[in-house]
Amino acid sequence: MLRSNKTTEEWQALDAAHHVHPFCDHKSLKENGVKVIVKGEGSHLWDSDGNKILDGMAGLWCVNVGYGRKDLTEVAARQMDELPYYNTFFQCSSPPQIELANKLSEVTPEHINHFFYANSGSEANDSIIKFIRLYWDQKGKPEKRTIIGRNLGYHGSTIAATSLSGMGAMKKLGGNYLPEFEHILEPHYYMHGNGMTEEEFGLYAANQLEEKILEIGADKVGAFFGEPVQGAGGVIDPPANYWPRIQEICTKYNILLVCDEVICGFGRLGTWFGQNFYGIKPDIMTMAKGLSSGYMPISAIGFSDDVYEALHYSGVLANGYTYSGHPVSCAVALKNIQILQDEKIIDRVASEAVPAFREGLKSLSKNHSIIGEVRGQGLLAGIQLMKNAADKVQFEVEEQAANICRDIAIKHGLIMRAVDRTMVVCPPLVITPSEITEFLEKADAALTETEAYFG
Ligand code: PLP
Repeated sequence: MLRSNKTTEEWQALDAAHHVHPFCDHKSLKENGVKVIVKGEGSHLWDSDGNKILDGMAGLWCVNVGYGRKDLTEVAARQMDELPYYNTFFQCSSPPQIELANKLSEVTPEHINHFFYANSGSEANDSIIKFIRLYWDQKGKPEKRTIIGRNLGYHGSTIAATSLSGMGAMKKLGGNYLPEFEHILEPHYYMHGNGMTEEEFGLYAANQLEEKILEIGADKVGAFFGEPVQGAGGVIDPPANYWPRIQEICTKYNILLVCDEVICGFGRLGTWFGQNFYGIKPDIMTMAKGLSSGYMPISAIGFSDDVYEALHYSGVLANGYTYSGHPVSCAVALKNIQILQDEKIIDRVASEAVPAFREGLKSLSKNHSIIGEVRGQGLLAGIQLMKNAADKVQFEVEEQAANICRDIAIKHGLIMRAVDRTMVVCPPLVITPSEITEFLEKADAALTETEAYFG
């Protein structure tokens, strides 16, 4: 049953009266009203006017197994009947919490075997910051407190996660973010390559970490934190030699490596995790979004055996959330992972969806002078819009090129996200061959109209 028993105008008026939206342009919201989504099935959504829309963003990079999975809703209902809530504090657990941790140890890389639950990527990363400090306390090096992230990195919205992120606009809100966070260049070859080969740039960008460590002093640096492919910063995938060099530097200076797998995890790049794709072994990893395909809020931190040992013997781990390991979220996440396994979704992403998707994007870039580059890996892409791609002239920020393209796309029945001057795409992993064609046709139409708009 559709929950659209009101007209769009009625929903919009009610929403405007009482709902305060996160990450939202409130001026535009006031002028245009909210878009009301009422139903999802597979890779498609329906709005309150009955329009069918292809969700090129899998919600917020999360609905990996697609909308409308009855097997997930049945598991949730059953768990709600049986045990809707119990906590994981004070030496307690329940079957879904136990089973999910065991399942995670099966699907994550071999060296990651211990899991802590939270409810969102932000909370998990916030906790990791504390755990990194606890780890170094336990190792007798309490001064190793500084954490290095990257410009345009995104790790969440709490004060600590915002401090760790490299998003200038977010730091304008409130100001005075936490000390002991540093940032290095994002490995964006197209923007910062300056005549280097991709390989030269990969080393150059990774070596920024070494320079930063030497500047601060290795005895003060606790960890390097990065998304395998930076997502919210505009989908920035590094050259192949970047991550192995980062790993080398972390080992050389005795610094923990943390992979934020909130977007890349659970199949996005055609591998289970981004670290599998790039061939690295982080000490700690963050998971959320695709962990439950967004059906329930849940996140998890994965620890290597070494990190866990250090935390384990520290007495009471005085950190956690009422809903850490919520039984319904755990039951749904467990079933979600079983679906990924049983239906071989990640294998199909790698062998079928990714080649068709990336080939289609390549053709789009050939046919549109407005496209500077298409980047990303797997089913995660950034389409860089340029005023004049041939001469590498950027749109002015005020021209709002990506927002305009996004709004045109939605009229064609396609959701893409606008990040600065980039169109960002991250469809459900279950996108079918015909839906990939639909995506490419709609993106093509939106880009053609955007080009016409800018004449
Ligand atoms: N880390 C990454 C890489 C993300 O992309 C996000 C959200 O987009 C987060 C962390 C924060 O997750 P949440 O919004 O669940 O707090």
